[in-house]
This record gives sequence, structure tokens and C-alpha cells, in this order.
Amino acid sequence: MLFYIKDKNNRLVLKDLNKRRAIKALCNNCSAWATRQRQTCPVTECQLHPYRNGEMPEGLTPSDRAKAINDYCRDWCCMGRSAEVKICHITTCPLFAWRTWRVDRSTMVDEMDCLRDMNG
Ligand code: SF4
Ligand code: SF4
Repeated sequence: MLFYIKDKNNRLVLKDLNKRRAIKALCNNCSAWATRQRQTCPVTECQLHPYRNGEMPEGLTPSDRAKAINDYCRDWCCMGRSAEVKICHITTCPLFAWRTWRVDRSTMVDEMDCLRDMNG
């Protein structure tokens, strides 16, 4: 699914995201786009920590990953207030579409529209 997110220069870039890539993108942002910093992130209590490198750790499931995103949004970003997560307006956050159990496609970019724009 295509979404606009911010790159390290704060420019909007179109990215093909799923939950795996979205977490990695968020962690890249959190690590100031320093790959080594993301890989060696010491914050083991962060819900996203097991998934920060774009891998599914042994013993965890896609459902655990989805829950990790929800928990991160609620507990780390919105200080425990689930209502705030629902009304989050940071549409360029890589986690935006997956911040609640129901996937929010409102900011998804239509691939066909992109192709039409590129072809003039
Ligand atoms: S695991 Fe958490 S603290 Fe570590 S880079 Fe990702 S978001 Fe940041
Ligand atoms: S989607 Fe919204 S609530 Fe979740 S981490 Fe991003 S800015 Fe925070």
C-alpha cells in the first residue's frame, strides 16, 4: 500500500508500506536514520523493539506485531490515551494506517492515480 511519509530531510516521499516496513520506517526515524543505531537500539521495553529490523522474531506472530503497533501508539506516543490514537492527525507517520485494529486506508495513495500522473 502506498503512503506519503517524511524522509530524513523532512520531505514527503511515497513508500510502499506494510506493517513490517512501517515499523522499520518508524524506527529509522526514531534512530535519526542511522541504521546501526536502529539495529542496536537499547530500548528493549519499546513495544516495537522486536520488530525494528523488519524481521519477525521466532515465537512471535503477525498478530503480536499488530498489537505492538497499537500498544506503541497508545502507550508511547499517546501516553495511554486510546482516544488520542483514534484521532491522531499525523498522517505522515509510517504507523498511521495500522494505529488501531481497523486498517485506516484514508491516506493510502491510489497506484493507478500515480501512474496516470507520471504519464501525464
Ligand atoms: S524500537 Fe522503539 S526506541 Fe528503538 S528505534 Fe524503534 S521506536 Fe525507537
Ligand atoms: S500513528 Fe499517530 S499515534 Fe501512532 S505513533 Fe504515529 S503519530 Fe503516534
